[in-house]
Amino acid sequence: MQDVVEVQCPWCFELVELLIDPETEGHYIEDCEVCCRPWQISVVRDMGRTPQVSIERG
Ligand SMILES: [Zn+2]
Repeated sequence: MQDVVEVQCPWCFELVELLIDPETEGHYIEDCEVCCRPWQISVVRDMGRTPQVSIERG
């Protein structure tokens, strides 16, 4: 099951729901679905709980 995390875009400041696959961890790049600008996403997992997600301008 995917985790759903609500994040705020660092470019347009819209709140967007981000789906995170169970295997996803570390850093990756994804475009904002609102403004299409790149996010640098950082996912940290702590023993299978809801991941900690932080987003910076990519
Ligand atoms: Zn955006």
